Amino acid sequence: MNTYSSRLLEDAVNELTRLPGIGRRTALRLALHLLRQDAQRSEALGNAIIRLRSEVRYCSRCHNISDVEICAICADHRRDHTVVCVVEDIRDVMAIENTGQFRGVYHVLGG
Ligand SMILES: [Zn+2]
Repeated sequence: MNTYSSRLLEDAVNELTRLPGIGRRTALRLALHLLRQDAQRSEALGNAIIRLRSEVRYCSRCHNISDVEICAICADHRRDHTVVCVVEDIRDVMAIENTGQFRGVYHVLGG
């Protein structure tokens, strides 16, 4: 079924639909929004996605997502490196860091 007047619009909708929690109606709404807003904004989103995939790396010590070889937490000498909290993924690190209570370091399993 092809109800789109543009193949490019259909391609964008199909790709957006692959994202978690995005159905076809939402995908179409997002695609039309991208089309209507300033081209610069849409390009910034595209570039952010491309850079996320090509440049983000994993900390070589804890496997947390990082922009550099050793993440900011592992590089922080004020933290207690003898206390290691094992977590599932970066969302756990963010949640614990938000409490401000933990001064050790992490080992991220899903990294
Ligand atoms: Zn690290």
